[in-house]
Amino acid sequence: MGGKIVEVFDSVQGEGIYLGVRQLFVRFYGCNLHCRYCDTKPDSYLEYEPEELFLELQLYPKGYHSVSFTGGEPLIQHDFLKSVMRLNRMAGMVNYLETNGTLPDAYEKVQHFVDIISMDIKLPSSTGQQDFWKEHKRFLALADNKEVFLKAVVCEGTLETDLLKIIDLLKSVNRSHTLVLQADSSAASAGKIGEKMEKFKAVCAAKDIIACVIPQVHKSAGVR
Ligand code: SF4
Repeated sequence: MGGKIVEVFDSVQGEGIYLGVRQLFVRFYGCNLHCRYCDTKPDSYLEYEPEELFLELQLYPKGYHSVSFTGGEPLIQHDFLKSVMRLNRMAGMVNYLETNGTLPDAYEKVQHFVDIISMDIKLPSSTGQQDFWKEHKRFLALADNKEVFLKAVVCEGTLETDLLKIIDLLKSVNRSHTLVLQADSSAASAGKIGEKMEKFKAVCAAKDIIACVIPQVHKSAGVR
């Protein structure tokens, strides 16, 4: 089965706790959501067979940490994703999945081949979408045996009540996860969000949740 891929490239991770680490990136086409702040809405893609993509990844110089499957939402092409991850695993490569955390059934199909998960928590007051608390909870339960960290985008309109729901979610899954609070880049560059980030960090600390405030560095540094 073929996969729709926007681009394959070699760069450094610009988000989350692996910030600055060299990875190979495979950007999948398409997403099941329409977040208000989304900046990845490509209108074209290339079609690959799993073996073709695997062979292309082999052409890059070694010395990278992992292969980051990003999007869009990679899990909407879960059969293709699973085939590529399987080939990578057989070659000793590390599979790093960037996901919006709303498709637990699709995750279940690929979980065996996933090593690290960077999972978004989609806050309705940030995305302008419905909430996904039920889906996020099931996703985290399925990923209980993996290395997982969580990211939430904070915008000017993000409500503290949504942050408190993340905290409830983290307490309910009975495992400590690092929560990365990431300022929406347009609000951050306009200097509109620093106070809110500080306040949210303090709210997390008061509830015994480790929160890191990490900007989207690849945008400010001009790397992909
Ligand atoms: S989940 Fe990610 S790719 Fe999909 S719409 Fe939201 S920000 Fe864009």
